[in-house]
Amino acid sequence: MNYIFSFFILLLFINPITSQSEKYKGPIIDVHIHAFDQERNAMFFGMTHPPTLRGETYKGVVSAEEQRIKTFQMMEKHNIVKAVVAGGTLWYDHHPEKILIGEQGDVKRLRSLHAQGKLHALSELSPFYAGMKADNPMMSPYYSLAEELQIPVGFHILPGGPNGGIYTVGMKKMRAYNANPLQMEDVLVKYPRMKVYIMHGGWPYLEDMKALMYAHPQVYVDIAVINWIIPEKEFHNFLKGLVDAGFGKRIMFGSDQMTWPQTIEIGINAVNNADFLTLNQKEDIFYNNAAQFFGLSDEEIKVHKGM
Ligand SMILES: [Zn+2]
Repeated sequence: MNYIFSFFILLLFINPITSQSEKYKGPIIDVHIHAFDQERNAMFFGMTHPPTLRGETYKGVVSAEEQRIKTFQMMEKHNIVKAVVAGGTLWYDHHPEKILIGEQGDVKRLRSLHAQGKLHALSELSPFYAGMKADNPMMSPYYSLAEELQIPVGFHILPGGPNGGIYTVGMKKMRAYNANPLQMEDVLVKYPRMKVYIMHGGWPYLEDMKALMYAHPQVYVDIAVINWIIPEKEFHNFLKGLVDAGFGKRIMFGSDQMTWPQTIEIGINAVNNADFLTLNQKEDIFYNNAAQFFGLSDEEIKVHKGM
């Protein structure tokens, strides 16, 4: 009787499930959030996200203020200690310790923001929506600036909005044939000191993404939007492909929260549900890789990790 009892106790301790599927609960950096302006981005407010490939719709916040408040609430809930926010100048004064500012547009303004310590990424750069590729001459000033200031570039390709967005939400110049991440290659060679992260992982070009990351060690990816807009199984296949290929130290968590704060939670769960990841690999994706890429100080990392 005693033997049998001991045997069951032993089984409890060597249960292999515990190490593989353990949920990560530490600090998170979300490298892909948007702050919207009430007037300029009015079209987004109150918009219900059209059905995703998961068949889900998301009800949008109705104002810029609600967007900010609900995003910070979600960050609090999930221990998101830092976020790279496109349009982040709009939110910076509310929580300067939590915001890394991503901006784009006028180069003079970008230089002035940088001089004030208020520019941490050029994001997002999305010539894709205008029917252009990365090597379009109009993009050169941004690459030069990024290289000079050592500010990472966040480069957007697919998914561009909801599936079918060309027809439903006015993204008329977007083309799938302009979405391949290999379009960055000549730009990377021309600006070798530029730090780049391909947004949304370069999905669905898994093999080309492996090629790009192998040939260009300075390239990182975020996994924003694909962790909630495509079926979780497809997201896992893509993520597993990159991790198995040896790029687990260059993958960063992002949500691409726009006006649907619940997408942050869905994105976090999608990574946590990935049973092929160890807890250490999850920690890299949720925090360590971004802390390293965006150059957080050792002191700040210690504070975040409660050490
Ligand atoms: Zn985005």
